Amino acid sequence: MQKALILGGGLAGMAAALQLRKAGLQVELWESRSRLGGRAGSFVDQATGHTVDYCQHVGMGCCTHLLDFLNETKTLSAWRRHSTLHFYGPKGDHVPLKASQFLPPPLHLQKLLLGWPGLAIKQRIEVARAVHKLIRLEPTKELDRQSALEFLIQARQSPGTMERFWSTIIVSALGESLENVALGPMRKVIVEGFLASRSAYEVLIPEQPLRQLFGEKAARELQDRGIEIHTNRSVRRLVFEGERCVGAMSSHSDGVSQGDIVVLAIPWFHLHSLTNSETPESVRRVFEAAGELKASPITGVHLWWDRSWLEQPHAAIVGRLPQWVFRSPWLEEEAESLAWEKCAGKSHHYQVVISASRDLPRDTNKLVEMVVDELHELFPASREAKLLRSRVVTDPHSVFSVTPQSVQHRPAVDALLTSNRLALAGDWTVTGWPATMEGAIRSGNFAAHACCEFLDIAPPELPADLPYSWLAQRLIRQSFSP
Ligand SMILES: Cc1cc2nc3c(=O)[nH]c(=O)nc-3n(C[C@H](O)[C@H](O)[C@H](O)COP(=O)(O)OP(=O)(O)OC[C@H]3O[C@@H](n4cnc5c(N)ncnc54)[C@H](O)[C@@H]3O)c2cc1C
Repeated sequence: MQKALILGGGLAGMAAALQLRKAGLQVELWESRSRLGGRAGSFVDQATGHTVDYCQHVGMGCCTHLLDFLNETKTLSAWRRHSTLHFYGPKGDHVPLKASQFLPPPLHLQKLLLGWPGLAIKQRIEVARAVHKLIRLEPTKELDRQSALEFLIQARQSPGTMERFWSTIIVSALGESLENVALGPMRKVIVEGFLASRSAYEVLIPEQPLRQLFGEKAARELQDRGIEIHTNRSVRRLVFEGERCVGAMSSHSDGVSQGDIVVLAIPWFHLHSLTNSETPESVRRVFEAAGELKASPITGVHLWWDRSWLEQPHAAIVGRLPQWVFRSPWLEEEAESLAWEKCAGKSHHYQVVISASRDLPRDTNKLVEMVVDELHELFPASREAKLLRSRVVTDPHSVFSVTPQSVQHRPAVDALLTSNRLALAGDWTVTGWPATMEGAIRSGNFAAHACCEFLDIAPPELPADLPYSWLAQRLIRQSFSP
């Protein structure tokens, strides 16, 4: 049996491991931390004892590789699918939006345009015009090198429309501000995330901490399938015989592990730590280029209150500092059983997500104060609630910035396969997706596929994208038939 060595146990590494195992390879996976899951993980808050995600993670109906991975790892039932999105306007007006069951995509979301909070009629017409222009663009690679903002300026979008409509969607979906993102990813979000298929826009929210889902349940499933997992094992260097990568050396005493094929699935900002005088020039060039990718931070503001104040499971907020608010109902039970000392009865955990958060105040007390003030303005019921505890978590490397420059730094998963027998995986590789769970899992699946072809083994079938509706196929310009 041929052996694959996977380095990095985030979603990309886990997906690659699963696919290569399914293809019949012996698979060994190294992860430097104590659990798998990488950025999609959780921490234990010392004061409450709660296991809380670093930051809320959300999937969408169009994330077919994510859905397949959750299904394969028996964790899908812990995610709830929401077909109603709860938007809140800048003045706190609640607008629940759901797709029409009768109109075919892309018309099924006309309510999203008609009901979008905080837009005047003139601005809704502006949006419709720009969306039409966007879907008529041919989705060539060139769009990834162009600026989304320039497109919107040319499509005569007013500042209010930019802020209330485009920014709200783009910052949440791409984790980067509108002025920095490329046109290709913006088009992808609008077309594949909303317009092409009926269920694409639906939101998937986990109902258990990510640590339990990916770090425990999915990891156990991988092990049950025969994948050998080593946590707390960090790659110190890749081992090459000439140009060919034959294994890796860890900081662990066990030394070197070999593989017929090696999949490197660590994040782009750690690649530099693996280059040394023995690194082949081709590998060094790819690592250096990927290392140039810029990162964008996402901030999770965790708030514990003495009572619940939001009826809906989530709130997407337009034109305000908090971009999304999520309730964590499962923590109420946990709080009771733990009898958290500060809290007489239940505590209610909420999470406020702020993407592209580089301009937030550094003083976390000040930030919490600003967020709570805005929540009080938007949700009058929150004024009755007492804030028991807060915690701010910012990951400066949350996602890579999908700028027009990023395309030249993202390597294909097989960029080093023929020359160095080294496959690459991670949300930062070429996947056609921005940095998301879907992008990471796609990269792992694609890397595994490329390895199988290289080793001349039949690869497992990849999940299909959601099909375009008959009307979407006619209205939306495509370079190929999906
Ligand atoms: C705050 C935040 C919010 C987010 N929100 C969303 C969201 O709502 N929806 C969404 O789809 N995505 C979201 N994302 C993005 C998503 O989490 C990532 O795109 C995805 O998890 C990346 O997976 P990955 O496997 O490519 O990389 P990683 O998760 O970074 O995994 C790489 C792994 O490699 C390990 N590693 C590093 N160096 C070594 C070494 N030397 N040896 C061995 N192992 C090593 C790391 O410990 C890590 O486990 C968010 C990310 C963050 C941080």
